[in-house]
Amino acid sequence: TVRTRFAPSPTGFLHLGGARTALFAWAYARRFEGVFILRIEDTDLERSTPEAVQAIIDGMQWLGLHHDEGPFYQMQRMDRYREVVAQMLAAGTAYHCYCTPDEVEAMRERQRAAGEKPRYDGTWRPEPGKTLPAVPEGRKPVVRFRNPLDGEVTWEDAVKGPITIANREMDDLIIARPDGTPTYNFCVVVDDWDMKITHVIRGDDHVNNTPRQINILKALGATPPIYGHVPMILGADGEKLSKRHGAVSVMEYPAQGYLPEAMLNYLARLGWSHGDEEIFTMEQFCAWFDLGHLSKSPAQFNPEKLAWLNNHYIKAADNERLATLARPLLERDGADFDGAPPLPAVIALMKERAATVVELADAAMLFYRQPRPDAALLQQHLNDTVKPALADYAGRLRTVAWDRAALAAMLKEVLAAHKLKMPQLAMPLRLLLTGQLQTPSIDALVELFGRDTVLERLQRG
Ligand code: GLU
Repeated sequence: TVRTRFAPSPTGFLHLGGARTALFAWAYARRFEGVFILRIEDTDLERSTPEAVQAIIDGMQWLGLHHDEGPFYQMQRMDRYREVVAQMLAAGTAYHCYCTPDEVEAMRERQRAAGEKPRYDGTWRPEPGKTLPAVPEGRKPVVRFRNPLDGEVTWEDAVKGPITIANREMDDLIIARPDGTPTYNFCVVVDDWDMKITHVIRGDDHVNNTPRQINILKALGATPPIYGHVPMILGADGEKLSKRHGAVSVMEYPAQGYLPEAMLNYLARLGWSHGDEEIFTMEQFCAWFDLGHLSKSPAQFNPEKLAWLNNHYIKAADNERLATLARPLLERDGADFDGAPPLPAVIALMKERAATVVELADAAMLFYRQPRPDAALLQQHLNDTVKPALADYAGRLRTVAWDRAALAAMLKEVLAAHKLKMPQLAMPLRLLLTGQLQTPSIDALVELFGRDTVLERLQRG
């Protein structure tokens, strides 16, 4: 069975990069009817917070990236890590090192001075026939992994292709600190092993950890998983994606009126492609997703494309659902729903041009507030040639059949009778009904407002 995991460190929000990594790991599991695991890597006590854990869970919930197992918390697995450390010490694949940090630093200084690459010199590394130094009184050791001295680590990265690192490039990694707490890379290894992860999909900022993790897994007698390192996301300016690009938390996007399906579709195409397909459902994505079509170079965040996709999904979305999302925004802006047309009907009329639910709510607002046309504009559009035609229009409104076709035919008759062109009547009508010049078609607007409201607004104007 395919088993993938998303393993965020809860030190901040779920940002776009993290969400995309989660999406890829989730989709890969879905594709092969496997298992997707959520693992919270919370061992950095200084930087991890419960709020960040919640933010990550909220973000994944919004996107619908549901996990099959977990969340597992590394802080709850400390006993297990200690157990594996003890196991490795007993097996001789790890050893106690009594060097203090100062001594290690001095070692590095000497090596740098000699023009060598700084590395742990193996003082405490047991070798056949070697006598180790006497254990300093009262000093607590770290535990180091006994990295192979010769040979190399090679893996076929599912995204980047084959990667080879010589073992001599790697130190004997510290896997437990003097107080016994395990270090980052070690926890990841034990977790991936215990959780039987088959595919590690993660950001390529972790690619340097991989050979170390593979060596430890091998020392444990485990088969390393397949690794796929996904390149990072850059801002539109080619810089590393940051707060500057407005992409702070994924949860900013629902607040700005984005739909999760638009965000998912956008993230799916960010560094991955399936021919020319731009718009697809998550079902399709899960059927297509493969690691081989992930791009080897960084993807660029493009907010215009995200907005374009969001408009696509708004047009496709159910009007009741959009109304549920837009209503609180309208309420916040003081909308008066009393006697006004129902919000889903208004949304059906307005959603064509809306890039976000916020824009949609703004556009819908004209139905739920009194029009306040600009006096100068009104004077310009409501001149003496137009006034009799408007009065005629209002008169006929009282008896016309209330459907869009009849309203359209009636408007044409009025135009003909007064020898006016459409904009000459449409502009003042728009101003009087809504206070603005840009609206959907007059007939649609009038039909939705209803006879009483239209007559009332025209009279008042
Ligand atoms: N906790 C790491 C991070 O948030 C991910 C580690 C991994 O996926 O192996 O960057």
